[in-house]
Amino acid sequence: MNYDVIIIGAGPGGIFSAYQLMKKRPDLKVGVFEGGNELAGRHCPIDGVKIKTCVGCKICSIMSGFGGAGAFSDGKYNITNDFGGTLYQYIGREKAIELMEYVDSINLSHGGEGTKLYTTAGTRLKKTCIENKLQLLDASVRHLGTDINYVVLENLYEEMKDHIDFYFRTPVDHIEITDRDDGKKGYRVYYEEGSAEADYCIVSVGRSGSKWMEKVCRELEIPTKSNRVDIGVRVELPAVVFSDLTDELYESKIVYRTEKFEDSVRTFCMNPNGIVVNENTNGIVTVNGHSFEDPARKTENTNFALLVSKHFSEPFKDSNGYGESIARLSNMLGGGVIVQRFGDLERGRRSNPARIAESTVQPTLQATPGDLSLVLPKRILDGIIEMIYALDKIAPGTANNDTLLYGVEVKFYNMEVALSSDLETNHPGLYVIGDGSGVTHSLSHASASGVYVADLLAEKI
Ligand SMILES: Cc1cc2nc3c(=O)[nH]c(=O)nc-3n(C[C@H](O)[C@H](O)[C@H](O)COP(=O)(O)OP(=O)(O)OC[C@H]3O[C@@H](n4cnc5c(N)ncnc54)[C@H](O)[C@@H]3O)c2cc1C
Repeated sequence: MNYDVIIIGAGPGGIFSAYQLMKKRPDLKVGVFEGGNELAGRHCPIDGVKIKTCVGCKICSIMSGFGGAGAFSDGKYNITNDFGGTLYQYIGREKAIELMEYVDSINLSHGGEGTKLYTTAGTRLKKTCIENKLQLLDASVRHLGTDINYVVLENLYEEMKDHIDFYFRTPVDHIEITDRDDGKKGYRVYYEEGSAEADYCIVSVGRSGSKWMEKVCRELEIPTKSNRVDIGVRVELPAVVFSDLTDELYESKIVYRTEKFEDSVRTFCMNPNGIVVNENTNGIVTVNGHSFEDPARKTENTNFALLVSKHFSEPFKDSNGYGESIARLSNMLGGGVIVQRFGDLERGRRSNPARIAESTVQPTLQATPGDLSLVLPKRILDGIIEMIYALDKIAPGTANNDTLLYGVEVKFYNMEVALSSDLETNHPGLYVIGDGSGVTHSLSHASASGVYVADLLAEKI
């Protein structure tokens, strides 16, 4: 099989590359190879009744398949250079914002119209945060919600399926560099049933493809460097406690510098009236959150993560390995995710089922009551406790005894692949985009990187 462009991975990065190539160069032959299922075939077996925790499916439907890790996400598209990746360092701040806005317009025209765009511009909350030693980062946030996000993906697929060749349940095993007749390099991708060749290859394998990406970089001698890992907990509390912030901003990214260690702790992925969910990365169960646009699916609780970033210098390089070990420890003690009342953590005792049942905050995720101080390193735990008290000043009630903490939440970042300002590797025609590149870690940045490379190729080919 011969293509002009092969795209590996059908997450937001891959989807937006394919979409943009279809729009700009309908004459090109494009093939998308995806390890997971088509959208309709993506089902996580956890139903909260018969199956309560992760059973380690061979293909994780939460992380893989059309829509990538973003398919069942809350669909928060943050239009900002302040967080979500460092795409602007490659393509410039203005271009990055322009592409994120373009992605937003495509989402709106594919089912997202009518969804709300929140912004931090001109908010008085910025001042309130500064007065309490907290920093509110600037952003505009389009909140699609898990349900509308799904509709947008369905519509994008409908529009593309007759123009682009999609191969599902087709994980690519390895990439080979070939010599083209014109003396340039080409790329052959191998999967279980065969292989396909193209003049250009865009790799967009996300976080679930992180180990595979490392292997490809080793095999093709593409330089990489280690990235950071973020470790912390997911906080769940009554939605009213955070309603001043969430009603105005929906998602607020707030950073706090701890008194004790001067570490930065930040809020991440806020889900007003949402639910807490399990996440499986390479067999390790961690925690995450969702929320729905549909009023019928809203809960009484809001959840968000509190994370501390860890970078390591010589001789230790394996940031992700460090995060994995901590997550494994929580899985070992709790058989999965652990939940603890803040009051129990402060008193140095584990939470048990009776204490959780008596709590005024009812957990939206079935997790094992336990003791997070046996899992998280002291420095990280101290930072999180300090931040909870700092947040209590702008959202009174955050530091209540019944506030629930789920652990652990880990944000793994792929190692950073050495790329040019065109997101091209040291092999001409081989591009790495999205979270798999280590450059992005959000829906909007990953999607924008896909549009960027597609635009380049539309001109170049
Ligand atoms: C539960 C959850 C909620 C989230 N919520 C948000 C949010 O609200 N806002 C936000 O900005 N971000 C959110 N994120 C992060 C966001 O989903 C990612 O940043 C984004 O999906 C990255 O896009 P991507 O295309 O780079 O990679 P991915 O979405 O990870 O897609 C990569 C795809 O490549 C496939 N793949 C991997 N290896 C191979 C291979 N060898 N061969 C073929 N296919 C392969 C995978 O199966 C996957 O489908 C969330 C993530 C999760 C898990």
